[in-house]
Amino acid sequence: MNTKRFQAIDRSNVERHPFWDRLRPDLREAIRVVSLVLPFRTNEYVVEELIDWDRVPDDPMYQLTFSQRGMLDPTDYAHVRELLRAKAPNEQIRAAADAIRRSLNPHPAGQMTDNVARLDGRPLPGMQHKYDETVLFFPSQGQTCHAYCTFCFRWAQFVGMADLKMASRETAELVRYLQRHPEVSDVLITGGDPMIMRANVLAGYIEPLLESKLESLHTIRIGTKSVGYWPQRFVTDPDADEVLRLFERVVASGRQLALMAHYNHPVELSTPIAREALRRIRATGAVVRMQSPLVRHINDDAQAWADLWRTGANLGAIPYYMFVERDTGARSYFEVPLVEAWEIFRDAYRQVSGLARTVRGPSMSAHPGKVRVVGVSTVNGRRVFVLEYLQARDPEMVGRPFFAKFDSHATWFDQLEPAFPSDRALFHPAEAAEVEPLRVFG
Ligand SMILES: *Cc1c(COP(=O)(O)O)cnc(C)c1O
Ligand code: SF4
Repeated sequence: MNTKRFQAIDRSNVERHPFWDRLRPDLREAIRVVSLVLPFRTNEYVVEELIDWDRVPDDPMYQLTFSQRGMLDPTDYAHVRELLRAKAPNEQIRAAADAIRRSLNPHPAGQMTDNVARLDGRPLPGMQHKYDETVLFFPSQGQTCHAYCTFCFRWAQFVGMADLKMASRETAELVRYLQRHPEVSDVLITGGDPMIMRANVLAGYIEPLLESKLESLHTIRIGTKSVGYWPQRFVTDPDADEVLRLFERVVASGRQLALMAHYNHPVELSTPIAREALRRIRATGAVVRMQSPLVRHINDDAQAWADLWRTGANLGAIPYYMFVERDTGARSYFEVPLVEAWEIFRDAYRQVSGLARTVRGPSMSAHPGKVRVVGVSTVNGRRVFVLEYLQARDPEMVGRPFFAKFDSHATWFDQLEPAFPSDRALFHPAEAAEVEPLRVFG
């Protein structure tokens, strides 16, 4: 079992690691070039225990944490490479990197503008409230991760674009907000990765919620990738036990603690320490649910998903969401057409026990809500995507099948068009005055 202290591997030290000399020159170049633009961070556990170096560069965990050449448009890649070769001044490189980043849709689906929580008209910068039941909370000290996913949709937070960051320092404001919003049953503490914080810092955010006596707050969720990237967090880190005692206090307060565990590939569940981490978390009374996007080069493979869900369900990590990779960052390298996402989902879903069919997807976190691709069908002689909202800003829209024209290339909701006039309101809810209540029986 790996009991080392956490050690990040990034631009500053990657060339000192033993694996560097085994990497092909073109792969080294890609790391040097791309990591100037998009975040790069991995760690010794990922490198030593999760990556199969005989399969690099195709290895899924290598694709997941190491910069890939295809992540940048070829022109942008050549431009940055030239600047590097010419030993251009740092400022010039930084300006070029910034320009490329701004072209990559750093804040998709109205994250910065439309989901803002307000208290007495004042925006609360570290919170998002999109769906009635759940508020997202971004503790300011939890905005990094034990490694960075190459496809990350929050990548803008990690590259020092200060104006793009969202983070909160204050739980007091969250508590006041919850007092005014009894419709909120769930707080989702997210990041980055909140589990990057020391136990006492995390407790500083969670204890006020427990002390608040908010009757409407039933569940505290923690969104985390630490279970995959650094399971030592729950087993051998100096404050691992302190974290688990905190989890126990949440459960003892009568609330549910749900760890929303981000696992991309079954190899993340394969090591003894990853399994021990799950066992210890579950022993606190916390529940663990697993979610992940479907990403090209990493897990665009039905067998990997079936294995992930089967193993997860056996170990007590309940399959929850399969997401469609979002329309941000290096999307052209990672995206998967919706029709293929659906085929992969279905192919994996039909192989697993009903106990693992708690998973829902493939789901797009689009501006109006979470849209699930139910499948492809034929209606009135026309080939269509059947869609449904699993979540929506307007709850009236949830759970009503609707149709989009079939498009074999479409990778995101905004590329789809209504198949029939009656579907328009569900595509563009802002244009329709209000979605009419559904009347099944006349
Ligand atoms: C997914 C999501 C949630 C949580 O939705 P659940 O379906 O309850 O898991 C909350 N807020 C935002 C912005 C989300 O994208
Ligand atoms: S763990 Fe989550 S927030 Fe962190 S890099 Fe990966 S996707 Fe992004």
